[in-house]
Amino acid sequence: MSFLPQEIVRKKRDGKALSAEEIRFFVRGITDHSVTEGQIAALAMAIFFNDMNMDERVAFTLAMRDSGRIIEWRSVNLPGPVVDKHSTGGVGDVVSLMLGPMVAATGGFVPMISGRGLGHTGGTLDKLDSIPGYCTMPDTALFRRVVKEVGVAIIGQTTQLAPSDGRLYGIRDMTATVESVAMITGSILSKKLAAGLDALVLDVKVGTGAFMPTYEKSVELAESIVKVSSGAGTRASALLTDMNESLGPAAGNALEVRMAIDYLTGRHRPARLHEVTMALCAEMLVISSVEKTEKAARTKLQAALDSGEAVARFARMVSALGGPTDLVEDPDKHLETAPVVVPVLVPRGGFVSAVDCRGLGLCVVNLGGGRQRPSDAIDFAVGLTDLVELGDNLQAGQPLAIVHARTQEAAEQAVRDVQAAYTLGELKPAANPIVYRTIRL
Ligand code: URA
Repeated sequence: MSFLPQEIVRKKRDGKALSAEEIRFFVRGITDHSVTEGQIAALAMAIFFNDMNMDERVAFTLAMRDSGRIIEWRSVNLPGPVVDKHSTGGVGDVVSLMLGPMVAATGGFVPMISGRGLGHTGGTLDKLDSIPGYCTMPDTALFRRVVKEVGVAIIGQTTQLAPSDGRLYGIRDMTATVESVAMITGSILSKKLAAGLDALVLDVKVGTGAFMPTYEKSVELAESIVKVSSGAGTRASALLTDMNESLGPAAGNALEVRMAIDYLTGRHRPARLHEVTMALCAEMLVISSVEKTEKAARTKLQAALDSGEAVARFARMVSALGGPTDLVEDPDKHLETAPVVVPVLVPRGGFVSAVDCRGLGLCVVNLGGGRQRPSDAIDFAVGLTDLVELGDNLQAGQPLAIVHARTQEAAEQAVRDVQAAYTLGELKPAANPIVYRTIRL
């Protein structure tokens, strides 16, 4: 069916609901460039103000998913469900690197297509790029083989998956229309559903380091994604998790890979990181019917950690995708380290009562661990470790964190940034929940 793009823009401008045919036509035009940048920008702004109802969101998500390749798994005959997780992004959030191998070790298959860092948040792909030799852009045949044989492969987005989202996102970014729950839903889901999933679990962050600005907006996004995913035929649920401070004690690419290895081997399993990882993994196993209850799922996951099966899956994934075969045994041989390592000392003692988590993320970006512009190269070695937590009681002169920097000058700026990100008070603050809510249909 043929339409005039400007009539579709006019209809949405006037607050009317678009039909699935109109949405499909427009999204096809985004992909094949038959719709102009101006028309896309105008529709994005009209959607921003007049929103899309659930039927429109489902049609929009499916049209974006269908704008490129959809990976199919049926022909591979996997003996378990294909299941993935998506996070809205955070600081010190290396969950994917543990979660993929843990779910693979307990009966799921995880074809995870992950992204680069966005704004102040870290990206799984950038973390994996800090592993020498690891190929984040394998061909489809290798990707499918690793998922089948190891149970998990974490790779990057290719231009073949949901290509309409790439063009639309670029225009949204330039026209102040990113913050539309309807369009965020379509953007996130179209890419995930193109991976051919049976089920999806969302980790929607809440707090000072979260992508969504308020708790209510995080709930709104979580509910939208769960409903639209189900409407598009893929079971989904969402956990709202805390991002009022770094999830783990380290933030920065190679530093987080080390943290993931320490977690999987059991050398060091920080409590909040452990709880979010276990909660998301358990939800994945339950929603994809591998386990009946969260309790049974957690028991199985803990067994996979204790037996070494989860870390073995991680090691196999890394070597199957071209990384070192002894990364787990000898991470220091392979992961870069920064030349300047300095503690951030706290001038006055007290309880850690607030953390500007976004500020910590930006500190890592400024050290070179993230990008100011999309074309920037990443410095994998830099970042922060030993970050203290909300509620910790510090004496004057104790460290808030350790800075890993390329130069003395960068380290000095980072010390000031970390000091500015922490607020110390007289009273111990009430602890935040680690998981606020689970949203299922
Ligand atoms: N991440 C995405 O992939 N898309 C959005 O629209 C926002 C965040």
